[in-house]
Amino acid sequence: MVKRKRGFGQMNTLSLWAATANPPKARQSFEGEYDTDVVIIGAGFTGLSAAYHLQKKGLRTIVVEQETVGWGASGRNGGMILPGYKPTMDELAKKYGVDEAKQLNEIALDGMELVKEIVTTHHIECSLDYGGYLLLSNKKRFKSLLKDEHESLNSQFGSDTRYLEGDELKQEISSSFFSYGLVDPHGYSFHPLNYSLGLADAAESLGARIFEKTKAVAIQRTPQNVTVLTEKGRVTAKEVIAATDGYSSHLTKELDRAVIPIASYQVATECLGEELAESLILNNRMVFDTSNLINYFRRSPDGRIVYGGSGIRHNGCEKYYRELHQMMLSVFPQLTPYKVEYTWGGLIGVTMDMFPMIGRMKDGVYYATGYCGHGASLATLMGQLLAQWIAGEERVSRRFESLPLKAFPFSSQKSMLINLANCYYRLMDAIG
Ligand SMILES: Cc1cc2nc3c(=O)[nH]c(=O)nc-3n(C[C@H](O)[C@H](O)[C@H](O)COP(=O)(O)OP(=O)(O)OC[C@H]3O[C@@H](n4cnc5c(N)ncnc54)[C@H](O)[C@@H]3O)c2cc1C
Repeated sequence: MVKRKRGFGQMNTLSLWAATANPPKARQSFEGEYDTDVVIIGAGFTGLSAAYHLQKKGLRTIVVEQETVGWGASGRNGGMILPGYKPTMDELAKKYGVDEAKQLNEIALDGMELVKEIVTTHHIECSLDYGGYLLLSNKKRFKSLLKDEHESLNSQFGSDTRYLEGDELKQEISSSFFSYGLVDPHGYSFHPLNYSLGLADAAESLGARIFEKTKAVAIQRTPQNVTVLTEKGRVTAKEVIAATDGYSSHLTKELDRAVIPIASYQVATECLGEELAESLILNNRMVFDTSNLINYFRRSPDGRIVYGGSGIRHNGCEKYYRELHQMMLSVFPQLTPYKVEYTWGGLIGVTMDMFPMIGRMKDGVYYATGYCGHGASLATLMGQLLAQWIAGEERVSRRFESLPLKAFPFSSQKSMLINLANCYYRLMDAIG
């Protein structure tokens, strides 16, 4: 008899997405001197989308990426394409008024459709699936919050959500861990690294040049142009975009001080087979909970459960992966006999406003950042908005441009800040 291994077996250091990616194209690193219209630092969704949309407008682009396409959050995330933003639509309505909140809601939905359109136009194989999402809680005080959110989304924002508990909830998830839920049929899932690779190919098909293993080390501006120095060369351009989000550094000091990198980690089980995976999350929803340090999980295209959690700034030590694994087993004890095969993490860019922003720093460098864990479609959208701005076109909204970059207090002590916030939110989740 074959004895089934439990829990953590021989761990893979690759993310599930890297291990199951379409074969990536080999791209050169950058040497020598080039001239272009726009140079973009960072080959995640933001940078690649900016390159794609700028090329469509006839502007020449060069993208420099210190590692490989999608190496940052874009190739590591949960692959959940959700409507809205980090703040709820009600919070946005209180802040900006109902009419603007409705407009922002439409813009976010358009962002989701933009991803779909790019995937369809360029035949990107990234397992795009229209499964919707499920927001869950096991805390009584969230019952009325979820009900209110469901009513407000449907009455004011034209959504089609349902509030669930009891048997209705069991039709969505085979877990007795949660008592209350909200389901929204609108939402996609995808294989995030395959989308990144496909978006890079699409941008290149329009003429973009993408260099990997090419770190931007300095930005020099003259009245006429801007030069980005890399370790082995220089690109001179009319404009420069920093698309570095949670991986921003002293290269762009203003951005670095205003973006806190929050780590998020995931574990993926071995392949469970379609039948078991489908029986756990019944309609292939993207699932997340109401805790401050959000837990999120989904089925992978190859029939695993991928379980993630946010808010902890450390280097993905095994202790934390074990903690995540335990959380997954609390939700799905049915997974106890199954191995975890992949563990990985990445950095989410968080800003003081908890809202995506695009802008131009004092030194003229354009940026788009602060998706706060909601960048799967918003980053593609912000890349498009950046391209429209640089090309001098009208944009759907200037709200994202109206928010200034605000430096976090004590931003030089980022690790300490993150650890303090982490302790606070853990405590709140434990007692809440
Ligand atoms: C674990 C995890 C799970 C997530 N899950 C979801 C989810 O399910 N749904 C959702 O909507 N969002 C999710 N997010 C957030 C989402 O992934 C991000 O908002 C989005 O990918 C940001 O894209 P980006 O292109 O702006 O940044 P990134 O993808 O982080 O790209 C920045 C790139 O800049 C490069 N770079 C930095 N400095 C330099 C330099 N000096 N020179 C050259 N290159 C440089 C980095 O190498 C990196 O590749 C998640 C994030 C993480 C980390």
